Formats: sequence, structure tokens, C-alpha cells
Amino acid sequence: MGRILVVDDDEERILRPLLRQLGRIFGGEHITGVTSAAAALSYAENEHVDVVVTDIMMPDLDGYSFCRAFRSNPLNLGYIILLSGRDGGIAEGLRAGADVHFRKPYDIDDLAAQIEKGLEVTRNRLHAVQDPLTGLFLRRILDAVFSLEAAKLTRTPSPLSVILFDLDHFKTINDTFGHQVGDNVLRDAAERLRRHSRRSDLFARYGGEEFLLLLPGANEAKALEIAERLREAMVAQPFPEAGRVTASFGVATTRRHVKDLVHRADQALYAAKAAGRNRVMTAPPLAGDAP
Ligand code: GH3
Ligand code: MG
Ligand code: MG
Repeated sequence: MGRILVVDDDEERILRPLLRQLGRIFGGEHITGVTSAAAALSYAENEHVDVVVTDIMMPDLDGYSFCRAFRSNPLNLGYIILLSGRDGGIAEGLRAGADVHFRKPYDIDDLAAQIEKGLEVTRNRLHAVQDPLTGLFLRRILDAVFSLEAAKLTRTPSPLSVILFDLDHFKTINDTFGHQVGDNVLRDAAERLRRHSRRSDLFARYGGEEFLLLLPGANEAKALEIAERLREAMVAQPFPEAGRVTASFGVATTRRHVKDLVHRADQALYAAKAAGRNRVMTAPPLAGDAP
């Protein structure tokens, strides 16, 4: 079961009754209601949302603007159902990124069936961008995410960090215990490390046994602290079938040059390997790029 977000400024006549009805069908713990598009967008920054049911006519940001803003983040894959009280506006909604239109007054069974369909669509969208072994995002989504972060930095200067890390001597694990055990270690390591990252930080499987964590807002000191925490989480407990497994980490930070951020992190990672592995190294800051 996924998360359903309901957005309507008419709290008395629409939002509360709708939350009640949907709560009976899907379970109240899966449903969140907010009274503005701005509140919905800030909710989606911190929580994964599978289906959004939103009003169109709202003061401040309307439903179409909500769709455009929500879709500007490539990680917002949730299915959007627009609830419209008047005729027309269908093309505008679809172009803004909505998936389907629903007329008010709605039939609750029809709306529930549409939500079920939306949950299924979102599951499929997620499968397309997630690695089946670890559940982490695939490298192919990174270009879009980095473009978004670069655009944000040109508007509001703020630090952006990347931690790139790679399991040490992983080939030996495969050679010693077999590929299946190697797979189990990858999956367990991803699970372990995910617990030490926030949802707003993008965690991706960058290559075979190489991972990337993108940390918006994190300066070098913060990124170093997180990388050190991840390194410790790896060695804190042996893996059931393979014993102690370590990883090496490269950290890079910028406030403006997003383009070569991963490359710099990769060089730091290479240095961490060369210096003996199981350690964190930082890329030298760029000239004119405050840490
Ligand atoms: P280093 O400490 O320098 O990183 O050494 P390493 O042995 O970890 O690095 P190397 O790049 O030589 O080997 C990586 C190995 O990871 C080789 C590859 O077969 C294995 N690998 C990559 N993807 C997977 C996977 O999905 N499952 C398993 N079991 N092994 C994988
Ligand atoms: Mg390796
Ligand atoms: Mg590697």
C-alpha cells in the first residue's frame, strides 16, 4: 500500500469528507490531507507520495501550478488525479503533468478505483528507475536530478555534496563465497546504509558495487560526517555470510559547479582506495568555491 495525498482548500465540504471516505477504503494511516498546493509540495519534499488527489481552483497556487511544480522534480513519480468542479481545463491539466481528470461531484467507488489504478502505475514507474537487487535508484535518473539541483543553485546559492563509495575487495567476496553471497552483501549493505541517509538525499546504485549519495544543502563538513557514519555502519557488524566488509568513500562539495561534482568525488574515492581503503577522502575545493 502506498501513500495518498489529498489537496483541497475547502476543508469543510470536500477535504474532511473525502479523507473520511478514503480512510474507510484504504486505511486512514495511508492518507494525508492538506489545504493548499504549497503545503502539498513541501510534504512531497520529505515524503514519498504515490497518488495525489488535488483540487484545481485554490487560492495562491492552483492545481495546474501544483502539477508543474511537482513534476519538476524527477523523483516525484506519483500519479496525479485532478478533481475539477467545472467543465473544461482537461488539456491544461494533462499538459501540466496530471494523469487524469475527475469531475466533482465524484462517485467515491469510481474515485477509489482510479486511486488503485494510480498506485499500480506509480509502482511500475518506480520499477523503471529502481535497481531490483537493492531498491536504490538507478544511475539513469541522476542526470535529471543533477540538472534540477544545478538550476536550484543558480537561484539560491547553497552547498551541494556528493558521496561516492565503493565496496572494498568485492571481487574477493564473489570469488571466495560465490556470486549469490556477493548479491546478498550488496543488498544488505544498501539496506544498512539507507538507514543512515534521509529520504531527501538521493541514494543511487552508481555501478556494480559502487553507490552515490547526493546531499542537497550539505556542506563539506556535514558530508564528511555522513560519509564517516556510513563507513562505520559498514564495519560495525560483520555480514552473516561474508564477514567484515569495508567500503571506501570520496566526498566532493560545491556551491556552483555541479557538472564535475561526481568526477571530483570519484577522484577522492580513488585516493581513498590508494591510501589503503576503509576510509573517507575529500576532493580539494575548487578555486572560488567556498566549502
Ligand atoms: P576495490 O577494493 O579496488 O574496489 O576492489 P574490488 O574487488 O571491489 O573492485 P573490482 O572493480 O576489481 O571488482 C568489482 C567486482 O564487483 C567485480 C564484479 O564482478 C562484482 N560485481 C559487480 N556487480 C555485481 C553484482 O551485482 N553482484 C555481484 N555478486 N557482484 C558484482
Ligand atoms: Mg570495489
Ligand atoms: Mg567498483
